[in-house]
Amino acid sequence: MTAEGKTKAVFMNPVRLGGYSFTPDHPFKPERLTRVFDMCRERGLFSGSGIVIDEIDEAEPGILETFHSAEYIDMLKKADSGGEIDIDMIYHGIGTMENPVFRGVYDFSVLSATASVKAARHVAEDSESAFNPCGGFHHAHSSRASGFCYVNDIVLAILELKRLGRKVAYVDIDAHHGDGVQEAFYSDPEVLTISIHESGKTLFPWGGSEKETGSGKGTGFNINIPLETDTDDDIFLLLFRGIIIDAVEAFGPDIIVGQFGTDTFSTDPLTHLRMTNNGYIEAISELHGRFPRIMATGGGGYNMDDVVKGWTLLWAELAGIELGGGYGGALGGVFLGDSSIYGSDLRDMRIVTSGPRKEDMLRDADRKIAWYRENIRPYLD
Ligand SMILES: [Zn+2]
Repeated sequence: MTAEGKTKAVFMNPVRLGGYSFTPDHPFKPERLTRVFDMCRERGLFSGSGIVIDEIDEAEPGILETFHSAEYIDMLKKADSGGEIDIDMIYHGIGTMENPVFRGVYDFSVLSATASVKAARHVAEDSESAFNPCGGFHHAHSSRASGFCYVNDIVLAILELKRLGRKVAYVDIDAHHGDGVQEAFYSDPEVLTISIHESGKTLFPWGGSEKETGSGKGTGFNINIPLETDTDDDIFLLLFRGIIIDAVEAFGPDIIVGQFGTDTFSTDPLTHLRMTNNGYIEAISELHGRFPRIMATGGGGYNMDDVVKGWTLLWAELAGIELGGGYGGALGGVFLGDSSIYGSDLRDMRIVTSGPRKEDMLRDADRKIAWYRENIRPYLD
């Protein structure tokens, strides 16, 4: 417990979910969840004061119904045996290459949603922050699976926070546009939704332009920041500070819900950005420094080693554990310890885009920030 009598951070144990498997060649590998848990444990990141591990062992009855249609939930249950695919399933996006039918698809989805809703309750009630590595399924729609996402745990968590009377800002830094979450709250001025992502010109789900600003009363409460291919940490941080931090401060939420996918990294096989985990964790720690109350989820990330490192850094940040930066512990020529204990080996080498391409990107970032100030910011004050 912290001085205020609250838990510092809750880690939703994803190990049970790490045992599921989509299809052998599918890029989404639940195994990464077990590996993140193991790495955090090996580094001693569960042993600080105020840290709690919450088990995800049972699905909460009726948890999907607040967002998903009854027809879609039935379809997902039918797919759970991993058996035959029928035309109705395909109509709902289930049973495609992207969203295959696999044994336990319903259980996996309902447990991941339960974990995010429980994590949200922790942050509303008894903990400063919480992390559900098996969450962040931001593409799922109310009646359709999309982009490896069957159930939208984020929408369910935000709806739960709204029910508890909390004001939420959603910050999505996954390489893909958070279309399912945008759609759910597009006309709702009580939830600020922000997504920074590789442009829809070059990446699924092919939307997420800055002109999508919300509708009706929700106008001005949806912010998209599309990124060009080869965007590096510098450009990302410029936009993160100039738009996201500024917008969240103006909005003044009680709680941040964060989708912290790691598929923006240069090593990711599905995307075309050039970020490293340095820019990733700097952005998150700036946000966390200003807004301690964060319900964090994982999300995309298809280079397994890099996902594991990124989320270990994320958990250390939420738990308030100093990993040390780029320093293995040498003093007077004597090496004092294994660099892995200090975490310096978790950080990537920095990658910087340079030359005329970078100049163009800097100009484009300035233009985006100016556009935001003129067109969005007035709604948030
Ligand atoms: Zn993604």
